[in-house]
Amino acid sequence: MDRERLYRTEGIVLKRSDFGEADRLLVLFTPGVGKLRVLAKGVRKVPSRKAGHVEPFMRTRFLLARGRNLDIVTQAETVEAYQGLRESLVPATYAYYLVELVDAFAEEGEENAALYDLLAHALGRLAAGDAPALLARFFEVRLLGLVGYRPELQRCVACGVTHEPAAVFLSANEGGMRCPRCGQAAGGALEVSLGAFKVLRYLQSQEYAAVRALQLRPETAREVERVLRRYLTFVLERNLKSLSFLSLVQAGQSP
Ligand SMILES: [Zn+2]
Repeated sequence: MDRERLYRTEGIVLKRSDFGEADRLLVLFTPGVGKLRVLAKGVRKVPSRKAGHVEPFMRTRFLLARGRNLDIVTQAETVEAYQGLRESLVPATYAYYLVELVDAFAEEGEENAALYDLLAHALGRLAAGDAPALLARFFEVRLLGLVGYRPELQRCVACGVTHEPAAVFLSANEGGMRCPRCGQAAGGALEVSLGAFKVLRYLQSQEYAAVRALQLRPETAREVERVLRRYLTFVLERNLKSLSFLSLVQAGQSP
């Protein structure tokens, strides 16, 4: 094979689908070129040397050959299998949610190494058994910042006043929170309690090592989830598929 056509990249498998008789189409997320669609040939035949390295949310080192339409996987070697995600339903479901978020927000051909690191780190923590809901909230807030939708949590998005320690109002179309005065003036804005607002600011400003020590009251955790869901859905202009499945899994966990 022509050597110029070959290149290496690490990637996390976001999605895969069957292609033809024996091939798979993979959507990878890479640090250098963002999302990348590639073809893995022969991986559905048994035995295939590549098959075990291209499962969903595996972190893999690839040798790719440039193709006319799609680049072709010529070698694949697992860097991190995140085995803990393959043994248990709840972390696996959260992992699907995280990769679906990245798939929805990341662009093809656009470098975002910080988002790659965030995803790799989050999958690692999920696989290690960290509390998945809090990790998902941290991930949502940080991802929004890394793809250009960082929610404004310091100043009122309508009048510009610095927020007091008080309840605020989510104004998704303005990209952040309104102060109580501007929030009450806007009909239908979602009120955010001071407790939930503090948590959101903490998620935005602190490292994960500090965040993971948080002990949230269940109602605060639910509120933070609701606020972020509202904001993400507005930004994406749609609901994510994995969310309905995630709700079912969460309902199954409740006593
Ligand atoms: Zn205001």
